Amino acid sequence: MTTHTPTQQTPRANAPSSDQPGIAHYSLREAWLLAGVELLRPLFTSKRHILPDCQVSVGFASTGNRAGHIGQCWSTGSSDAQVNQIFISPALVDPVAVLDTLVHELVHAVDDCKHKHGKEFKKIALSLGLKGPMRSAGAGADLLPKLLALAQQLGPYPHAQLHVPSKRLVIRNRPRAQCKTCGYQVPMLKKFLAFGPPICPQDKVEMEAIGNWDEF
Ligand SMILES: [Zn+2]
Ligand SMILES: [Zn+2]
Repeated sequence: MTTHTPTQQTPRANAPSSDQPGIAHYSLREAWLLAGVELLRPLFTSKRHILPDCQVSVGFASTGNRAGHIGQCWSTGSSDAQVNQIFISPALVDPVAVLDTLVHELVHAVDDCKHKHGKEFKKIALSLGLKGPMRSAGAGADLLPKLLALAQQLGPYPHAQLHVPSKRLVIRNRPRAQCKTCGYQVPMLKKFLAFGPPICPQDKVEMEAIGNWDEF
């Protein structure tokens, strides 16, 4: 039987330290993000929104890496701990962009994800200075300088960009078959590519292979 001795915790691992006064230095992304939540809290409070305690991590949205899904907030009901959980995409690396996404997700937390991007969400978002279509609402001209100042206070975001291949390109090039006569198209399943293109149900002629039939 072996016992596992926990490695000595470095007491400063989670705490900000800095050579430059006024600028924090976090070694953990979550510590940076949680500090960001606390720096953003007065903004919410000043507009009379109650910002709950949240867990924030770097991670992919459950919807994957589709364009635009750079953050995700989960309702308290989704968690056994009854805590909102927020994920910020590892593709984001600019501290202001991270804070911008964080504000958006925190608006969902204030609403406990009850109204998606509906008018209740919009009311909170606009009051804080978010602009644009609500699905992708981000900081407007008034909020951006505030986020910039907060980013400076937080110091470097301890995360290097993760390069994730775009699924869109792959999808666009997915193997399909198209009828030269009527234009009818069908997506092909990988395991049936060896069978060749199917027969058009309209014209009863062999369809043409389009997209990438080789690498699938
Ligand atoms: Zn949203
Ligand atoms: Zn046809």
